[in-house]
Amino acid sequence: MVVQSNTAEEETNPFEKIIILGSGPAGLAAALYAARAELNPLVISGVELGGQAALTNTIENYPGFPEGIGGYELGELFKKQAERFGARVQFATATDVDLQMSPYTIVTDSGKYKTSSLVIATGASPNHLNIPGEKEFTGKGVSYCATCDGWFFKEKEVVVVGGGDSAVEEALFLTRFASSVKIIHRRDTLRAGALLQKRANENPKISFVWNSVVEEINGAGKVTSLRIRNTRSGEESTLTTDGIFIFIGHTPNTQLFHGQLSMDDKGFIKTNLLMETSVPGVFAAGEAADSHFRQVITSAGMGAAAAIQATHYLEDK
Ligand code: NAP
Repeated sequence: MVVQSNTAEEETNPFEKIIILGSGPAGLAAALYAARAELNPLVISGVELGGQAALTNTIENYPGFPEGIGGYELGELFKKQAERFGARVQFATATDVDLQMSPYTIVTDSGKYKTSSLVIATGASPNHLNIPGEKEFTGKGVSYCATCDGWFFKEKEVVVVGGGDSAVEEALFLTRFASSVKIIHRRDTLRAGALLQKRANENPKISFVWNSVVEEINGAGKVTSLRIRNTRSGEESTLTTDGIFIFIGHTPNTQLFHGQLSMDDKGFIKTNLLMETSVPGVFAAGEAADSHFRQVITSAGMGAAAAIQATHYLEDK
């Protein structure tokens, strides 16, 4: 791994052929392809090296790993493979971009860059419930990552909010630690896939609270209870718990590009099949541009495609 030594924000670094923003599966797959095309790519890692996938305990649906592989471990392998061909991974976060004119300007917390092409692979972040107590008790019983925080709930009672694949998958993971896991879902049917549903139904530690939403998180120093409302009867009740894990979808990390790139109404960057955005030489891949598939393999595929197209773009230029 090469870590650059520049520190001053005003300082402009040497001109880059291609910069990749993000170090999840999309960013590191783009880095691998760009490196193998001899473009000497620079990856600006973002806050979470490895992206959301690195926070996943076991990834069972990435081909080539029949027994599954740890998310962090897979991210490390992606990085190692890209670096083997010359990719440079810089632990930094982009704070501003100017895509008005090529070469494009990328300002990071460790320097300013000019680049001929850009792959945006900034991923997405978990949604919040935005209810009283959520912010106050984050890290004190409120969590958005079972892999990170599950261990702290050994033999404790926890709640999971959501009905999608993430909620059910993380609830299953939490049963390794917690004595019981209640899944609170706002409807009476899960959105999660059949296999996950089957596993959850068969797990004696998991139970469901249907047609219910959490209105308030209460505690003293740490979470002790939730006020929940039944969406059908309107009835409110108190549920005692030691922790609440929230998995209710994600929002793309694309705020930096608002007003500079075409996006849909939820902030996902619009691309065509070639991963091209509305600005020439700027490509987007992974969850910053994909509200539908959101898989490690699809993000990695998009990253590879973006780098292949960036290579063609630079050749034509
Ligand atoms: P998701 O599929 O969008 O599910 C979000 C869940 O949260 C839904 O059940 C939704 O309820 C609920 N929800 C949303 N806003 C809420 C609110 N304000 N209050 C209460 N509940 C709320 O998100 P996800 O589970 O993170 O999955 C995202 C994508 O990643 C999906 O395409 C999924 O297949 C994929 N994924 C796959 C795997 C896997 O293959 N193993 C694992 C994780 C994620 P409703 O159902 O009523 O809308």
